[in-house]
Amino acid sequence: LIQLYAPLNFLGVLYREIRQALTDIERMFGLLGTEREIRDRADAIDMPAGPHTLRFEAVGFAYDARRPVLHEVSLEVPAGHTLAVVGHSGGGKSTLARLLFRFYDVTVGAITINGMDLRQIRQASLRQAIGIVPQDTVLFNDTILYNIQYGRPDARREEVIAAARAAQLHDFISALPDGYDTKVGERGLKLSGGEKQRVAIARTLLKNPSILIFDEATSALDSRTEQAIQTQLEAAAQGRTALIIAHRLSTVMNADQIVVLEGGRVIERGSHTELLALDGAYAGMWRLQLQERAEG
Ligand code: ADP
Ligand code: MG
Repeated sequence: LIQLYAPLNFLGVLYREIRQALTDIERMFGLLGTEREIRDRADAIDMPAGPHTLRFEAVGFAYDARRPVLHEVSLEVPAGHTLAVVGHSGGGKSTLARLLFRFYDVTVGAITINGMDLRQIRQASLRQAIGIVPQDTVLFNDTILYNIQYGRPDARREEVIAAARAAQLHDFISALPDGYDTKVGERGLKLSGGEKQRVAIARTLLKNPSILIFDEATSALDSRTEQAIQTQLEAAAQGRTALIIAHRLSTVMNADQIVVLEGGRVIERGSHTELLALDGAYAGMWRLQLQERAEG
């Protein structure tokens, strides 16, 4: 009986973990309760090998057909480059990340990776290649070690610790009585928004994906921690294809290209210097943030 029970028990654990993982991903995108209808095509193929060039080709999208959210959005992130997307809340920035992760299919136009339409690619292989630090991180009810290691389950403990260090989390964890074995989540230690965000950053650094998406990844951090992590994030983005959605413009100054998204449309694009010279929406946001910092 024990011989039979052990594997079944293992399957039970596995099943629970898979369920939990799906729940986590869905929750992180706020999808619970919505229908997931995206299936792989019968002839879907694996993600092309990296490095990856991303392209949004005149993308239109609506969650509800009566209310379009994106209009003719065209973007390119050449392999190894960083594109930053900024703009006011509700402009459609997170939607770009959800479309890239293929939680939804575009309504109009196409998203391609190395020229291949996303709809031709197996979702599992797509998601394997992409690492996202979402706006809101949901943790598993498990140890902090598990929560970071989830980014790459076969990572060694030292690698997990290195990722935690890079995410400015190691000292915090080390000071806990149970250290990396501290239980977190709803039934464990409740982490602050900023701490959860750092767990997500560590997880993604550990995953070491070819494509990186940061969706306001440092928005919950105080500006000193943000500055400390910023260097690590820039190092992580180095040589990768990165889409950085940011609220604080100081975090995107060094991006190869910056796009301003308003009302689902690209209204400006260029480097930080070019956009300041243009003296439009970006320059306005920049001045406002300088002022806020001065008053800070
Ligand atoms: P941003 O990240 O720039 O703040 P979002 O991409 O989250 O903007 O949202 C763009 C628009 O889409 C908003 O008007 C938002 O209310 C709407 N929206 C976002 N998610 C959903 C959803 N799951 N269902 C319906 N509308 C949504
Ligand atoms: Mg958003």
